[in-house]
Amino acid sequence: MRKPLIAGNWKMNGSLALLETMSQTLSSARISSSVDVTIIPPFTLLMSAGKMLEGSDVELGAQTLHPEASGAYTGEVSASLLSECGVSHVLVGHSERRTLFNEDDQAVLVRVKAALDAGLIPILCVGETLEEREADQVETVVLGQVRTVMDALSQEQCSRLVIAYEPVWAIGTGRTATPEQAQQVHAMIRSWLSGKDPALGEGMRLLYGGSMKADNAADLLSQPDIDGGLIGGASLKPDDFIAICHAAG
Ligand code: PEP
Repeated sequence: MRKPLIAGNWKMNGSLALLETMSQTLSSARISSSVDVTIIPPFTLLMSAGKMLEGSDVELGAQTLHPEASGAYTGEVSASLLSECGVSHVLVGHSERRTLFNEDDQAVLVRVKAALDAGLIPILCVGETLEEREADQVETVVLGQVRTVMDALSQEQCSRLVIAYEPVWAIGTGRTATPEQAQQVHAMIRSWLSGKDPALGEGMRLLYGGSMKADNAADLLSQPDIDGGLIGGASLKPDDFIAICHAAG
């Protein structure tokens, strides 16, 4: 049985005040212990978040990392610096990083490896653009992104990853993939993983991301191959985020 994971990506949003409200609301929300919950605020809030969440079941994620362990990389943050804040998860390959910061598959791979080496859980984001979907390239694009990473890792390393399928056309647009569209891609990813290693296919958590909200979460999360959600906009609203966590449990 795969335990669902709900992860809230704040992007470059939020504040210390929102962090305080979110951690208080989450701690009084009685979220089922059968759901894992992670919040992913901006770098500047991580140290405070780590302290606020200490002793709670809510875990902490970062939005990206630099692949090197240390050095002259002004403005960047390494995996070990993230760990010091209490971070356990890190997004890698989010479509905004791929598009706005030119992170290609190789840049994604080195970040996944750096995260794994430091004991962090990478949440590998993959997904096609609208043009790619309309050109019938979903399988080529999505499995290409998955393969570049998974084929370069050992089985043990692969087993420590989470994958988030995020169709680019659904991120921040209010346009959600239908549960059937999302399930189809999740099943395709799982079947590829199972071909590589049946235990990997069975055990890997596959999250859906792209305009998941309180009112569509239950339908998406009820699909057999959707094991949770990566939530953007709705993760900034404590009540909505908690409603999604409840829908997963
Ligand atoms: C995201 O940024 O990963 C995301 C899914 O955003 P939204 O929920 O706002 O579409």
